[in-house]
Amino acid sequence: MAETSNSTSEIGFGRIIRRGLTRRCPVCGEWNVFDGWFRQKPSCPQCGFVFARKEGQFIGAIGVNTSVTAIAIVLSMIIGFAVTAPDFSLPWILGSTVVVSIVVPTIFFPVSKTLWAAMDILMIPLEETEAPLRQRPLRKNDV
Ligand SMILES: [Zn+2]
Repeated sequence: MAETSNSTSEIGFGRIIRRGLTRRCPVCGEWNVFDGWFRQKPSCPQCGFVFARKEGQFIGAIGVNTSVTAIAIVLSMIIGFAVTAPDFSLPWILGSTVVVSIVVPTIFFPVSKTLWAAMDILMIPLEETEAPLRQRPLRKNDV
């Protein structure tokens, strides 16, 4: 029987997204892919996957982070209006929105990078050579 799956589908959609959401390497699940909160290692120490697959790779991560922050800002404004109704305390609403607009992208920054890497390998499947240290599970026809 011929093996038709590529390496990305071997890992699985849910697992790749879960790894991205938890600041892990989307290919192997390695946790140690950051040198601090803001600095991602150039490649995964476990599988060798290079996170910047092409130039400008992390523009997508910025887009993910901006989208999540925009949603958080809208939610904070809705909650602010709901909590302060019927008087609508604008200083509190604006203050909380400013805090959200600073805190959320800071906290979400590393997740946006690993999540974008995960989304990227779902859109452009992983080539065999992109994770050279990856230990692959045995297939049926492997000896
Ligand atoms: Zn890895």
